[in-house]
Amino acid sequence: MNIVVIGAGYVGLTTGVALAYFGHEVTCVEKNPAKLELLSRGKSPIHEHGLEELMHLAGKNLRFAERAKGPVEAAEVVMIAVGTPPKSNGEADTQDVEAAAREVAEGFLPGRNYALVIKSTVPIGTNRRVAQVVKRVLAARGLMDETFVWIVSNPEFLQEGRALYNTFYPDRIVVGAEEPEGVYVLRRLYQSILEQTFTPPSFLPRPEGYALPPLLATDPTSAEMIKYASNAFLALKISFINEIAGLCEKVGADVTEVARGMGLDPRIGPGFLAAGLGWGGSCFPKDTAALLAIGGEYGYAMPIVAAAWEVNFRQRHRMVGKLQEALKGVRGRVVGVLGLAFKPGTADVRESPALEVVRILVERQAHVRVHDPVALENARRVLADLEEVEFFEDPYGLAAGAEALVLATDWPEYRYLDLARLAGMMRTPVLVDGRNLFDPEEARRAGWTYLGVGR
Ligand code: NAD
Repeated sequence: MNIVVIGAGYVGLTTGVALAYFGHEVTCVEKNPAKLELLSRGKSPIHEHGLEELMHLAGKNLRFAERAKGPVEAAEVVMIAVGTPPKSNGEADTQDVEAAAREVAEGFLPGRNYALVIKSTVPIGTNRRVAQVVKRVLAARGLMDETFVWIVSNPEFLQEGRALYNTFYPDRIVVGAEEPEGVYVLRRLYQSILEQTFTPPSFLPRPEGYALPPLLATDPTSAEMIKYASNAFLALKISFINEIAGLCEKVGADVTEVARGMGLDPRIGPGFLAAGLGWGGSCFPKDTAALLAIGGEYGYAMPIVAAAWEVNFRQRHRMVGKLQEALKGVRGRVVGVLGLAFKPGTADVRESPALEVVRILVERQAHVRVHDPVALENARRVLADLEEVEFFEDPYGLAAGAEALVLATDWPEYRYLDLARLAGMMRTPVLVDGRNLFDPEEARRAGWTYLGVGR
């Protein structure tokens, strides 16, 4: 099929490259000139496992363009995967989605049918709104009876750091469409995934026992809600275990043991039960805020989602509080923060809990040294306003003479740090393990005053 993807970010680029690998003809439209320049040279603007390799493998089917207008003419499917950032009231801002829909509709030709697929996470009713926007453009161009457009909601569930894996081997594909043709087109689009007929690239082997994913066909409003409800539920699972972690500390239980015991119950499941600094990133904070804003629009209180939010943002302060207690104050202290990305496997620092910890420490007048294996450059841009932050390429260099370390992102490479060597370099070896990455006994044996979460 001939496909155009609007927006070559985490979602658009991953989807576009994967579809090109499966044999579709794909054009990714990206309006940011710096990103477009990198893409045209075969470079990925984002850090995602296997993405650049796959761009090369799919190269002959993959093109990049600055504008939608030409490429959409011959497309069967146009996918909108632009950002929907939060407004100040928490509502998701859909202006990029609407602008993309207008631009796309300007390019549609008479006598053709198109499926316009919304992959961005959008407030309930946006599919209807996009239909209206498209109709208005087609009417102004005199094409109302000439061009037919099926609007399809197809929310994305990928996780950064595992984006390609999630695209090749999804748990489910959700399609919300008013007309059966919309569902039919998406079945064809995703046939290679639904039937697993592609040959996996060496770096993305098919997991053993992987069952064919279901395609859930539903109405667009339910599809939009499935996305928000899923993210809110995952966020509240993490907040729940963080709330339990606080109580574990009081009563002397170990939250990692508690989570293990809970997770063995298939009704609960083991995922998203790791106590720590809490959730961040470009999705959970924005999507829970958007869900609360939608509730607010209808005068409908959502105390569970609101509490998940509150517990999450309290957690960062609790962790800094622990450090403050251990050091008897952080003012004038040198504190190292290991990890800045919002989670391992990505360079994305949007809404990263680690950066919030850095900011709280600086507000409390600590001098903060930071390290991250891949997100240092992104963090440098975001933290440019803070003079008291020093950037390190090497965790051992960061530890030399520092008075405490906070492990803020659980990059696997941190697990292999030589804890005894690190402790020996510190002025005072205090370790706040904000992700329960280390074994407390091992850390203590290596000379640390160890403070985990809920244990
Ligand atoms: P992103 O910011 O990484 O990428 C969006 C891209 O769209 C940007 O590069 C931007 O320049 C481009 N863009 C905007 N308007 C354009 C236009 N008119 N023409 C061409 N390019 C345009 O965003 P993302 O993280 O990929 O998220 C996209 C959407 O998917 C959001 O709604 C998000 O909530 C949702 N989502 C994201 C993830 C994730 O893990 N990042 C997962 C699931 C869903």
